[in-house]
Amino acid sequence: MDKRMTEEEFVASFDEALDKGYIFALYQPQMNHTTGRMIGAEALMRFKHPEYGMQYPSDFIPVFEQNDLIYRADVYLFEQICIFQKKCISSGLTPVPVSFNISRYDIFEKDYVEAIEAIRKKHDVPVRLLRAEITESSAVGGMETVSEVLKKLHTCGYVVEMDDFGSGYSSLNVLKDLEVDVIKLDMNFFRGGVGGRGGLIISSMVQMSKWLNTPVIAEGVETIEQAEYMKSIGCNYIQGYLYSKPLTEEAFIEKLKQLSFEPVLASMDLIESMNAEKFWNPESMETLIFNNYVGGAAIFAFEDNKIEILRVNPKYVKEIGMNMSAKEFISGNPLRYFSAEGKRTFISTVKKAIRSNDEETCDTWRTFESRCCGEDKICIRTDMRVIGRAGERYLFYAMIHNVTAEKKRYIELFDSERRFRFASEQANIYAWEFTYATREMRPCFRCMRDLHLPPVVKNYPEAVFEAGIFLEESREQYFDWIRQLEEGAEHVEGIMPLTVGRVPFYIRYTNEFDENGKPLKAYGSATLVIEEEES
Ligand code: C2E
Ligand code: CA
Ligand code: CA
Repeated sequence: MDKRMTEEEFVASFDEALDKGYIFALYQPQMNHTTGRMIGAEALMRFKHPEYGMQYPSDFIPVFEQNDLIYRADVYLFEQICIFQKKCISSGLTPVPVSFNISRYDIFEKDYVEAIEAIRKKHDVPVRLLRAEITESSAVGGMETVSEVLKKLHTCGYVVEMDDFGSGYSSLNVLKDLEVDVIKLDMNFFRGGVGGRGGLIISSMVQMSKWLNTPVIAEGVETIEQAEYMKSIGCNYIQGYLYSKPLTEEAFIEKLKQLSFEPVLASMDLIESMNAEKFWNPESMETLIFNNYVGGAAIFAFEDNKIEILRVNPKYVKEIGMNMSAKEFISGNPLRYFSAEGKRTFISTVKKAIRSNDEETCDTWRTFESRCCGEDKICIRTDMRVIGRAGERYLFYAMIHNVTAEKKRYIELFDSERRFRFASEQANIYAWEFTYATREMRPCFRCMRDLHLPPVVKNYPEAVFEAGIFLEESREQYFDWIRQLEEGAEHVEGIMPLTVGRVPFYIRYTNEFDENGKPLKAYGSATLVIEEEES
């Protein structure tokens, strides 16, 4: 039967505990929930007294801290971890990085980093197999000291994790000033579960970590629902009872044998001209500009044919309309809004932008649904470009325009034109359209067949004079019609003899204008003039 030890008992047995190995580490695996691979483990201190049995950190850590024993305990445990890692390497296992906890009292011991470095070198353990965990609360004692220790750890090559992120009220400020490599979010801090307010806070913390380009490990994940929720907001790294309790060395070695390893994703390399820190910092000028002075814009990540929106500005939300919130765009798979064709187009444009390293554009239809507006199909023009890359993960900047109205007008026009063309086939009319800007003429099928015209006639109308379809004698009149149309006449019409046979046709043009009233195209038709037989 275990008995809870008192403060006096802990203090009295401390030296003996270090000597005889009552203090040791358990290892809790950290997993990628999506791939099922291990990304590392956390070493957790245990105290097992031969007489009183297993003791828990919540009892002895505060005692150690208050009696100036924590530094020795932590350095001791660090050595145990190094010995363990070395043992794994020597026995041919693939070791995973192990995180060790640094008490805030350790940080104020001036030779802490030197002490652990000496131990690590003594046991010849590569620095990549050890990760330092500092807590947010360490910053309370003095930001400069923490900052200095962090720099030292980085100089030695340690990955540094921010433990218990979100437990303090000053989380954001701490993150801004301490450049940690990984953030650990503890689910236990967010009561009320992932469904309510807790979920909201967690998702904005994950969001924020993405702005800072820092991977997140969710701790204390006990249920599959929690894990799935974390995955849905883009956090795949998980540590908790769902996967495993903290394990003894032997049990952990079994896990190492069963599971394969994958590294935690390094942060992104952003394009040279961009300052990542400022770019993601919610209070920077860059953010101010992103939010206020550009059009609809988003930052999204692309990996493994999947899109994840990391950030949208208020104009993005406005451009799409529908009274949706930024959160609705960011959460879940953004491709769910796309038509099948739109999805293909978008992904292939993304890939093109990766290849070209330049701005690429596509128009895609998406069906949005909102509480106030029901369902609506919207066409979005996206101009995108790569702004960062980490391994196979790419970061994109995208500007969007809602081009639905433009597209609908085009479709209507296309439909009416098609109807017109069908009608002309039925009614013995030749029809064509002429685009002023390009000097191109597109003839109807009948024109192509009877007059041997290609689908697009360039350099119109000069080309048809050269081909002898229009006669030289009509040149002046015909160019005058074109001039009138280009100057804005609604219609022009008249009779004109065509081809060498001088067959008289009734020709009529209808002008089409853009939204500013500028002529765009002329639709022409020619009908045979049936002369009445002389009696
Ligand atoms: P921590 O660093 O936040 O460690 C995570 C704690 O969450 C561990 O408690 C772990 O056993 C527990 N945990 C893991 N998965 C779950 C889960 O699914 N649900 C719940 N409810 N809890 C889970 P533990 O081992 O009791 O350690 C408590 C704290 O003691 C640690 O919190 C850490 O602050 C401190 N500690 C542990 N080992 C050391 C150490 O070597 N040095 C120092 N200075 N502090 C340590
Ligand atoms: Ca920890
Ligand atoms: Ca923690």
